[in-house]
Amino acid sequence: MQVGMLKGSIRLALKELKRWMAPEKAKTEITTFPSSAEIVSEPLGVVLIISAWNYPFLLSLDPVVGAIAAGNALILKPSEIAPASSSLLAKLVGEYMDSSSIRVVEGAVAETSALLEQKWDKIFYTGNGRVARIVMAAAAKHLTPVVLELGGKSPVVVDSGINLQVATRRIIMGKWGCNNGQACISPDYIVTTKDYAPKLVDSLRCELENFFGKKPMESKDLSRIVNSNHFARLSNMLDDDKVAGKIVHGGERDKSNLRIAPTILLDVPRDSLIMSEEIFGPLLPILTVDKIEDSFDIINSGTKPLAAYVFTNNKKLREQFVTMVSAGGVVVNDTTLHLAVSSLPFGGVQESGMGSYHGKFSFDAFSHKKAVLYRSFAGDAALRYPPYTQGKLRLMKALMSGSIIGIIRALLGFPKA
Ligand code: NAD
Repeated sequence: MQVGMLKGSIRLALKELKRWMAPEKAKTEITTFPSSAEIVSEPLGVVLIISAWNYPFLLSLDPVVGAIAAGNALILKPSEIAPASSSLLAKLVGEYMDSSSIRVVEGAVAETSALLEQKWDKIFYTGNGRVARIVMAAAAKHLTPVVLELGGKSPVVVDSGINLQVATRRIIMGKWGCNNGQACISPDYIVTTKDYAPKLVDSLRCELENFFGKKPMESKDLSRIVNSNHFARLSNMLDDDKVAGKIVHGGERDKSNLRIAPTILLDVPRDSLIMSEEIFGPLLPILTVDKIEDSFDIINSGTKPLAAYVFTNNKKLREQFVTMVSAGGVVVNDTTLHLAVSSLPFGGVQESGMGSYHGKFSFDAFSHKKAVLYRSFAGDAALRYPPYTQGKLRLMKALMSGSIIGIIRALLGFPKA
């Protein structure tokens, strides 16, 4: 999947690069007449790309496509949490790419900290908000711009009156089909009405069994948890007293094999551990509300998520969701698929990140947009030069305000209207 998506990005960049690079014509003003203008994309210079472990190839090389397309040299720092992928990336990049413009530096906190002390022309970081603050503080020392691709608690609102089986299957694919919940845009929690929750839980149970069998701990289609730290973090969420008795499906854990079954919790309190941080694993809490519109307050009372999903046939609810819920991206009647649309920017807002990439947005993320104004020696108006007579000042004011009548009056020497 990662390689397929990456190939798609590369193909798109190769096909579109000429168009992306072409200077973009811009409109000019009467104040600069005669002139023409364009926006010229230029490389930023040398950029640093720090990536995360959960999709180690895609998250490392997808920004690299944009950085190279835009003409930059770069250092890539893959995540040490996926060490085999990190060393393979270092080997393959060393073997197949031009080492004068791209290098891989492997390592963990010490190596990344040393890289962050250097002056870069841009830092592109994928990972969590805590480290993002370290990255941004380091970048600030050199006034280096950053793109921060972070995460958050991505909600799913499930309305009644929908095709529940299709909705359930799409939620399951977004949650457990993507790295067993270890994905930045994986559904983090569901909000539905008290009346609809039992139906939704039944449907989730039924489809989970269809997909992963009666023994999900043995399913080859579910990933394990990446390491023992993350296993312990997820276990703590399940062991929290505040969610005691709330598990309505799953809950099995196998510490030695780092496996956790798809687990659904119903009616968890908002102050429980599982609702206080991004889950990033196979646990799915469901919150219930009296009216589906109440879900907006729950979502908007938290930090802005990377993605937000709504399943509904109600046009008004859909419109309200799109206008009232602030998130990096929104999908109506599906989950996670916006990631695959290269004409949409992929990125967060506030706590879920800043800046975006994918498709042309990747090229733009690694380019400086240079404003260029072209003039000739013709049309050198005496107006802009001293001495500034009353007539010149009136004409200048009229030009700046864009009033055609004012300009004509000033040119004809009529007194102020
Ligand atoms: P991680 O542990 O792999 O860390 C990411 C990078 O930060 C690594 O390269 C690591 O070496 C570096 N790092 C860690 N500690 C550091 C420190 N003290 N100083 C400098 N660098 C340091 O990944 P993670 O943070 O566990 O990733 C999970 C988070 O990333 C989740 O919040 C997830 O939602 C988010 N994420 C976002 C996207 C996206 O595209 N928006 C994609 C994947 C993951």
